[in-house]
Amino acid sequence: MAPGARGGVAAATVIPYIRLMKRPILIHPDPRLKKVCAPVADISDDLRQLADDMLETMYDAPGIGLAAPQVGVLDRLIVLDCVREEGEPPRPLVMFNPEVIASSDEMNTYDEGCLSIPDQYAEVTRPKVVDVTWIDRDGKLHRETFDGLWATCVQHEIDHLNGKLFIDYLGPMKRQMITRKMQKLKRDRARG
Ligand SMILES: [Zn+2]
Repeated sequence: MAPGARGGVAAATVIPYIRLMKRPILIHPDPRLKKVCAPVADISDDLRQLADDMLETMYDAPGIGLAAPQVGVLDRLIVLDCVREEGEPPRPLVMFNPEVIASSDEMNTYDEGCLSIPDQYAEVTRPKVVDVTWIDRDGKLHRETFDGLWATCVQHEIDHLNGKLFIDYLGPMKRQMITRKMQKLKRDRARG
C-alpha cells in the first residue's frame, strides 16, 4: 500500500540487514496481480530473503505495505509497517499465510493508494478492526488485533494474495479511468 495522499512515511528507516535487494514492482494491469497466490508450506532461506527484499523495496518506494505478487512471486507473503509518527521506531512485520479470522461490524473509510498503481488514490471502506493470524519468518504462529490504518493496510495486502486490488472496490468508470492511466504510464516507461 502507498502512503496516503496527505503525507509521506515518517519512519522510512531501513533496517540494517545485509544483502538487501530492491525488486521491481509490477504495475497494474499485469496478469500476475490477478492471481490467487499459493500458501507457503516451508519457510526456506530463499523466502526469508524474499521477505527482507520486499521490506527494502517497500521502505524505498516509500510504502507501508507490499505483497509478494507485486514483485512477481505468487506466494502468500506480505510485509507491512504502518508506523508513521516521527521518532517512533519502525515495526516491520513479515506475514506468511496471513488470514483475517474476524472483522468488526464497524467500518472505516481510508484514502487508499497502491505501489502497483502509482499516484492514484481513492476512498475504500473496510472493517475498522480485524483479527489476523500469520506465520512469522521463524515459523511461529501469531494472532493480533489490528485497528485503523494497520487494519486497512493488512486487508489491502491480503487482498493482493487473492488477486484483488483496491480499485476493484470502485465503480467501473473510475476503475477504467485509473487502468487507462496505468496503461499509458507503462507505455511511457517502456519508451524510456
Ligand atoms: Zn497494493
